[in-house]
Amino acid sequence: MAKQINVALIGNPNTGKTSVFNALTGLNQKVGNYPGITVEKKEGICKLPKGLKAHIIDLPGTYSLNASSLDESVVIELLLNQQHKDFPDVAVVVTDVENLKRNLLLYTQIKDLEIPTILAINMADRMTYKGIQLDIPYLEKELQTKIALISTRKNKGIDHLKELITNYKALSTQACLEASEIDKPYFEGLQKAFPNQLLYKLWLVITQDVNFGTLERQDIDAIQDFKTKSKADLKRLQQKETIKRYQFINNTLKKGQTIDLSSAKDLRIKLDRILTHKVFGYLIFFGILMLIFQAIYDWAELPMEFIDGAFASLSEWVKASLPSGAFTDLVAEGVIPGIGGVVIFIPQIAFLFLFISILEETGYMSRVVFLMDKIMRRFGLSGKSVVPLMSGTACAIPAIMATRNIENWKERLITILVTPFTTCAARLPVYLIIIALVIPEGTLFGLSYKALTLMLLYLIGFVTAVLSAKLLNNILNIKSKSYFVVEMPNYKLPLFKNVALTVIEKTKSFVFGAGKIILAISIVLWFLASYGPGDQFNNAEEIITIEYANQNVSEDDLQQKIAAHKLEHSFIGITGRAIEPVIKPLGYDWKIGIALISSFAAREVFVGTLATIYSVGSDDEDTIKNRMAKEKHPVLGTPLFNLASGISLLLFYAFAMQCMSTLAIVKRETNSWKWPLYQLVIMTAFAYIVALIAYQVLK
Ligand code: GDP
Ligand code: MG
Repeated sequence: MAKQINVALIGNPNTGKTSVFNALTGLNQKVGNYPGITVEKKEGICKLPKGLKAHIIDLPGTYSLNASSLDESVVIELLLNQQHKDFPDVAVVVTDVENLKRNLLLYTQIKDLEIPTILAINMADRMTYKGIQLDIPYLEKELQTKIALISTRKNKGIDHLKELITNYKALSTQACLEASEIDKPYFEGLQKAFPNQLLYKLWLVITQDVNFGTLERQDIDAIQDFKTKSKADLKRLQQKETIKRYQFINNTLKKGQTIDLSSAKDLRIKLDRILTHKVFGYLIFFGILMLIFQAIYDWAELPMEFIDGAFASLSEWVKASLPSGAFTDLVAEGVIPGIGGVVIFIPQIAFLFLFISILEETGYMSRVVFLMDKIMRRFGLSGKSVVPLMSGTACAIPAIMATRNIENWKERLITILVTPFTTCAARLPVYLIIIALVIPEGTLFGLSYKALTLMLLYLIGFVTAVLSAKLLNNILNIKSKSYFVVEMPNYKLPLFKNVALTVIEKTKSFVFGAGKIILAISIVLWFLASYGPGDQFNNAEEIITIEYANQNVSEDDLQQKIAAHKLEHSFIGITGRAIEPVIKPLGYDWKIGIALISSFAAREVFVGTLATIYSVGSDDEDTIKNRMAKEKHPVLGTPLFNLASGISLLLFYAFAMQCMSTLAIVKRETNSWKWPLYQLVIMTAFAYIVALIAYQVLK
């Protein structure tokens, strides 16, 4: 069997790790989460010469081995644990030729761990433009390594990198500087106490409070000698260590690198000035956002209609060609529409990530973050939360997936939790029909009351999202530091390969992650709506036919009445009746109860369900509206849909977590059921209370 080695890609954020990863692995990659936490884990296979296979991991970006975030701890934990199944046989430190000095700090730390290390200097295509020259043999000697000068953009040097990986046994495992010189006696003592341990590992255990193998910080502290260092002492030593590393790097680069500044262009400076401008910056950003959402709506509409139609035809075809019975019903009415309900999201997800990935690739996203960070941070959000929050107005599913770009876990979690408050497109049909029913004619400042109500609903969604973010920021007790990114990446044309892989990967992770849950819940909901206990359900046809035998009703009307009768006595119908006492104080009856429950599949189902219950053709909105207008309150005898119950219902839909797909995606993105369940309970309770107050005050 061919031998397989572990290769870890390590480097500062934005140095091109993922690009190198893509270049090495192509489509042989998969993305998951690290067990138990939500940091993304990318791995793939790269075939090397001599029948060797490399298992490549794209580690999260990290500035140093001094952990300050969840992402960074992942890297340290892996590098310290030789027993780990992913422990690298060889580490490839990816650096950006334009930021070598900063990037090399991490490199020198990795070298101290005595792992065979290759230095990949990426973005070589920028060297002429920036007037950078490198003395590779000199650098290889000083840094005690092999260097691959590469450009993933121009696809240069990748083969050389593969060759170096293949010959990883020839790599030096020597540290390139003596970090222990910062306090010789201390380090000598340390080594004496633990002769079998690597000094730098010991140092990391002491300063980072990370464990590796069986060695824990307490073990070291237990030895009296080392208690002598206070926390402040250790901090000072750490600073000394960093300074020492930078001295070494500076000296090395002084000889190994020449930069001819005159050839560096100042286009970037000019662009930055406009794109992060206090006024134009925001205008441009919102202009771009508007363009993106317009495009998502317009472009996704056609494929979505197509998918909708295709699955409907498939259902019909199955019904027509399989023998009728429970199994055929399950496939045609449960499974196929369920899969359709997953696939329907693909166009929106693909388009949104196409744009996001282009914005990231060009370097523009970093400017946006810079621009929005100050404002968003006040609410416990990140500059990058703007995109999910805005995308939420189309649909929460792609929006919540877009939070992956937020490195800081707390900010990301808050964004995930509040995004469902923004008004998604599926709420629109519900809003429109209720507004048409209960909001009176009339205008204010030239705007009709109806339009104003709709605008208010959007505004309420947004304001609630931001305010609850603020609240969560105060109550969530999660430690996580934010990067303060001083340096912005250069502007670049997007790499097509990176963009395409991002789109494919996001779509895949949605279909196989959240898709399963969506499919399962939709089959359950279908079952509950299509089956029921007792005679009323099973003999619906006879009961209705007899009831209307002497009346002159058309065959269509009869069928609709049967469907209504069945739904009323199905499991969902029974549940709808059962919850009537609970929703009565909100001004709803059991029919609305049924619609509330079934619209958990997707909010827009609300209208269709009411249409079935009121037994009207579901494609004719006007008749539903008329039918709803005629509906009487069971006790009071007044119209069921009046201003009070209408507003109450609008507010309920504005706040309730009324969407199984959102639950599924939150489960997938947070890696636990805890957060989606909190969301479900708290948002629904909140919606209930607000709707209750609204109805009781207005009635
Ligand atoms: P990561 O954060 O380290 O994973 O970096 P990415 O792979 O996401 O790349 C960061 C940015 O650098 C992206 O905009 C890439 O298109 C760009 N990039 C990657 N490799 C190259 C390269 O060889 N040359 C140039 N000019 N840009 C590159
Ligand atoms: Mg990356």
